[in-house]
Amino acid sequence: ALVIENVSKRFQSKNKEINVLEKINLEVQKGKFICILGPSGCGKSTLLNIIAGLEKPSEGKVFLNGREVLSPGPDRVVMFQESALFPWLKVIDNVEFGMKIRGVPKKERHERALKYLKMVHLTKFKDVYVHQLSGGMKQRVALARALTLDSEILLMDEPFAALDSQTKNILLLELQRIWWETKKTIIFVTHNIEEAVLLADKVVVMSSNPGKIKKVFEIKLARPRLLDNPDIVYMIS
Ligand code: ATP
Ligand code: MG
Repeated sequence: ALVIENVSKRFQSKNKEINVLEKINLEVQKGKFICILGPSGCGKSTLLNIIAGLEKPSEGKVFLNGREVLSPGPDRVVMFQESALFPWLKVIDNVEFGMKIRGVPKKERHERALKYLKMVHLTKFKDVYVHQLSGGMKQRVALARALTLDSEILLMDEPFAALDSQTKNILLLELQRIWWETKKTIIFVTHNIEEAVLLADKVVVMSSNPGKIKKVFEIKLARPRLLDNPDIVYMIS
């Protein structure tokens, strides 16, 4: 489990201190889909960055499976709104890149890249250069790249926010399927309550100034398997 214990975060800004997060406590069981919802500036990205180990809390601690999180690690991968791909490289090379820097051998790298490109429906585009892709396809590449790293936790900071609503809805449904298939823990930041309710086991609602957890909802609805709908499958294939 991921345990966030009394985490507070202050930033120094123009000689004054701002309280961004105040005493955040949250426990996330392995394999759950958590959505973090809240107004702009309430500290969602800051919280995600702390979980990722990219920022340090001013107070409090984060534990993953009993070990304190002090830096980024292979058990956590972050996916941002901008995909940070290399436009001049082919799709497959972008997907392999993350594994390359982690020292995964070439043959395994390639096999894993193909597996996850298939999962995000990009097999046909594997040799296309990223600069030729649409925004939605770029985020699919970024998702495939994140998945190849085989982390326990996938941290997603409004990954589809810049996409048009149809593309976004398709990707949300695909993400739901991928979550079922990979049994990953997903922590997904969004502004959109409908999105949160569609996806999450648990919705964490934050309030701002300073960022606090206002409410936590467990979602117990049986989710519709919308991907079983042939029209949607047609649209994405
Ligand atoms: P949004 O929904 O707009 O993405 P958010 O909930 O993700 O917002 P954060 O990006 O976490 O909010 O920012 C929370 C607050 O912390 C903001 O007021 C922001 O200006 C401030 N902040 C974030 N990072 C820093 C930093 N490195 N230095 C100073 N202030 C920061
Ligand atoms: Mg943010």
